[in-house]
Amino acid sequence: MATGKIGVSTKDLFPIIKKFLYSDHDIFLREIVSNAVDASQKLKVLAQSGEFKGELGDLKVSVKVDKDAKTITVSDRGIGMTRDEVEKYINQIAFSGAEEFLEKHKDDAANIIGHFGLGFYSAFMVSDKVEIVTLSYKDGSQAVRWECTGDPEYTLEDSERSERGTDIIMHVSEDEKDFLDERKIEELLNKYCKFLPIKIVYGKKKEWKDGKQVETDEDNVINDTTPAWTKKPADLTDEDYLTFYHQLYPMADDPLFNIHLNVDFPFNLTGILYFPKIKNNIDINRNKIQLYCNQVFVTDSVEGIVPDFLTLLHGVIDSPDIPLNVSRSYLQSDGNVKKISSHITKKVADRLEEIFKKDRKTFESKWDDLKIFIQYGMLTDEKFYERAVKFALFKNVDGKYFTYDEYKDLIKGEQTDKDGNLVYLYANDKATQYSFIQTAQNKGYDVLLMDGQLDTPVMNQLEQKFEKSRFTRVDADVIDKLIAKDNVKELTLTTRQRSEIEEVFQSKTPTIEKTNFTVTVEAIGETDFPIVITQNEWMRRMKEMSALQGGQMSFYGEMPDSFNLVVNGNHPLVGKLIADMENATKEQLTPVYADIDKAEARKSELNKAKEGKKDEEIPQAEKDELADVEKNITSLNDKKKEVLSNFANDEKLVSQLIDLALLSNNMLKGEGLTKFIKRSIELM
Ligand code: ADP
Repeated sequence: MATGKIGVSTKDLFPIIKKFLYSDHDIFLREIVSNAVDASQKLKVLAQSGEFKGELGDLKVSVKVDKDAKTITVSDRGIGMTRDEVEKYINQIAFSGAEEFLEKHKDDAANIIGHFGLGFYSAFMVSDKVEIVTLSYKDGSQAVRWECTGDPEYTLEDSERSERGTDIIMHVSEDEKDFLDERKIEELLNKYCKFLPIKIVYGKKKEWKDGKQVETDEDNVINDTTPAWTKKPADLTDEDYLTFYHQLYPMADDPLFNIHLNVDFPFNLTGILYFPKIKNNIDINRNKIQLYCNQVFVTDSVEGIVPDFLTLLHGVIDSPDIPLNVSRSYLQSDGNVKKISSHITKKVADRLEEIFKKDRKTFESKWDDLKIFIQYGMLTDEKFYERAVKFALFKNVDGKYFTYDEYKDLIKGEQTDKDGNLVYLYANDKATQYSFIQTAQNKGYDVLLMDGQLDTPVMNQLEQKFEKSRFTRVDADVIDKLIAKDNVKELTLTTRQRSEIEEVFQSKTPTIEKTNFTVTVEAIGETDFPIVITQNEWMRRMKEMSALQGGQMSFYGEMPDSFNLVVNGNHPLVGKLIADMENATKEQLTPVYADIDKAEARKSELNKAKEGKKDEEIPQAEKDELADVEKNITSLNDKKKEVLSNFANDEKLVSQLIDLALLSNNMLKGEGLTKFIKRSIELM
């Protein structure tokens, strides 16, 4: 028996490995099983090249947990190691045997995983003691047993082992005894080893017999050794892609499309990405893209490797060229990784364009689900935007789809305003904005449906990209002002009538929390509604953006919602109301107006007298009188307001018209709605 010291320069290295090499202790199993798979693959390569002439047999790797002995054993039937090799590969930490092997078998050894560096030593993260019992494939080899307790002292002695291959026996430490749980190990194997290229056996298959689960004779193979992404696209059917998707995400709905990636220059990368059907945010967080390195699961946090917007996709990426055991910030600045990222973007755009061109019908039918990915891409990746403008679609309220160019052609005749701006009208709630949509369509306009989560930022983006274009929601203004043309309608009211009727309606606007109403009188068509409620596009969109950005622009976020209550000055009902108003208030208002006129006249006299004088030159009496006159004007105006609001109180039509407008905007609720119903009955 030989003893020795492992070839590390400092004794402190072990604790460092144990603690910091991988913050995630789970990965020890991945490392040890990968090594076993590697050793098996190597033997296959040697058999192919004729260097190994014996029987390969069944090259399975098996994983066993022995609760009593407190061990986890990983056994393979691969190349094994001679005494010298153990000395060299195991004892000299930094020396990667796989690297040397790859150098020798460059061309045919592409499937060898071994570049995880310190992989084997990760066994010490969970073990007090690790044993290796191994017999090399080489003729006449002597089996050896290596043992190490986690400090650099090790023992190496001859062993009785008669079968080719290696057992790695990990004596699990007290702290890590959770790993002796059968189910825990099963979970880890499923996570990391599900697609390894050599069969991984974990115990025997179980079946139900007489109400109990019993073991069968059949090996329980936990992996699929030839997952779909390792095959040629030509050899796969749609069904195969679907089956593989459900292998990855058993609970998910069928995906929309798949993209098979297959690159060998300037880097190696294979994989299958899927556009999923996203029902909610939980799906996004649960089913992530999985990154593999030669079929070994590495991670499912691919930020930095895949362009941000594509992290919403599902599927698998497998590349031996992505540096794995480095920090995330290093990954993001790595040249290869950047190339991979832009390549994937290009591939995804290619594929979408291909489907769009070849089968627009299918593309349209999936657009509603697809839209979020494409919009996210357009918003965050300029290159993708440039590709996607060709196939990104608009959908109108009638469910028709258009490319951006097609839509522009459709609306430019009718929807160009007097200053030459193209106005894209849209709705984001077909039900609530029904009457506005109707009015716009009657006018010959087309209305887009913009009800997606990203539509608001997309509209902002398009306004910047398209020339002389803006998006306006159908209820942002009265129809003639939505798209201002030269032929404006005339308002036939006097200034006094106008201000009085505004006063009348203002006094009856509802009090809703964080909501303001401003009444204006406008010239709208006689056949249009007597009152419409509109909401300024710019203010509303600022609020929407601020909500999307989670309060970063909270100045806008905290502003109340402002609505315009637009009274149609040309509507016969409003005309009648004005006539009634004048009749009912004349007697009371005539003297008030006379007093106001008088007071205003005196006020301007006093102001004139003040002109050009310094404050101390103005007699106190005049100052006092001016203050009195101003006070008097205010109180006269209050009086006027009171008279008009008394009229509004008596005249049920005022509230009735406001409520009808609220109702058509889906804003009449609760008590307001009940009052409206009662009043309607009284009016019948
Ligand atoms: P890497 O796999 O990156 O080379 P490891 O520390 O995981 O680094 O392994 C070191 C070396 O030990 C391997 O390259 C290989 O030569 C040898 N080795 C580890 N496990 C086995 C095994 N099960 N069978 C044969 N050789 C092995």
